[in-house]
Amino acid sequence: MSYAGKIKYPCAVSFPGYISEESIYLLEQSHWIFEPLTASKEMIEIAGSVTAPDDLVVVVPGKQTGVLEEHGRRTLKYSVLSNGFSPGIFAGDYEVKKMRVGSTEVEFYYSPKHRAYIETLEIENHIQNIVTYYEKNIGSYPYQEYPLKIVETSIYKPGGHSTLNIVTVSEHVFNREMDQELREHSDSFSPDPTSLKGMTFIEDIDLLAHEIAHQWWGTGVRVEEDSPWSSEGFACYMPYKYITEEFGPGTSAVIPEMWRKRVNSLENSYYYTNPEMLENLPEKQRQGYEMQTLKTELYGQMPLQLMRAEELLGEDIFFARLSEIYAEYKFKSLSYEEFLSSLELSEDDLEGDTRAGAEKETEGIAEMETEKDTEGIAEGEVFLDE
Ligand SMILES: [Zn+2]
Repeated sequence: MSYAGKIKYPCAVSFPGYISEESIYLLEQSHWIFEPLTASKEMIEIAGSVTAPDDLVVVVPGKQTGVLEEHGRRTLKYSVLSNGFSPGIFAGDYEVKKMRVGSTEVEFYYSPKHRAYIETLEIENHIQNIVTYYEKNIGSYPYQEYPLKIVETSIYKPGGHSTLNIVTVSEHVFNREMDQELREHSDSFSPDPTSLKGMTFIEDIDLLAHEIAHQWWGTGVRVEEDSPWSSEGFACYMPYKYITEEFGPGTSAVIPEMWRKRVNSLENSYYYTNPEMLENLPEKQRQGYEMQTLKTELYGQMPLQLMRAEELLGEDIFFARLSEIYAEYKFKSLSYEEFLSSLELSEDDLEGDTRAGAEKETEGIAEMETEKDTEGIAEGEVFLDE
């Protein structure tokens, strides 16, 4: 098969992707490729190739199996074994850093324009630490036969995305301003969560860790989406745990406070307490309200429920059970009922208040939420398309 021309995108709900001379961004919702499925969700072997001008570094799904160069073009062959194939293809002027984390190969594709920031802020170390943390507490990377590819993409698609062995994060995360102090004392950089800069850095790491967490939860274990039950809960919760480990509870505390704030603001909203009035709202506004509610459930309520589960069971037992669930449900569907019964907890148990909910809100959180929401939207749109 070969493809050419403009992408025809049937609905304008979210970003369809693009092909330009400088870079390529194609996700499953670009519908750029026939998406094979097996009725019984059995593993099927898929092989393909992508041809692009040879000044672009192309990131292919699965494993790269061959390269052919001719007439200024490069063809990359790839193969992948999967039980549902909705691949992403990305290309750009990338530098690649390869690293090994435990038994997992990690490839980090980033723009050379952002090398100084990436090196100063030790992004590579964070990637390694995030993967190490997830492997230690949940289990080994689900696609042991493929490298985990982490790809910087253009600002046209803010936020991030996770698909079969590829995680993308938008360039704004690696393109922050560095002040003089940071350039001179990079070895002693520790983010101060009370400053806007420190908070922005924590949010950036949070986003990176969020997309990487989806490799375990969402792409690895297929969480049967039934709001608020969703892979987003895990993808919000695991970064919070990582940030606590890496930067301390004083820094990470703003994250559950933000979830709580989000849930509180929904629960205090007029239409939440008067749902019968929703029908008087114009269609567009009602959809807006429903979208906001859904996001609050996925990105606020669900991670708070996981936090509650951890408080009830204790961190060690909670992580031990999560590891068992991961091992049992890897590449399979996981329903909320199955999750609860594996934890030996009930729905009511998880709906209680967490300790985080009792903490009082500070000025800094509001700032964080403003920016976080922007990323949440991009994330949310991705989810809603699937
Ligand atoms: Zn997500």
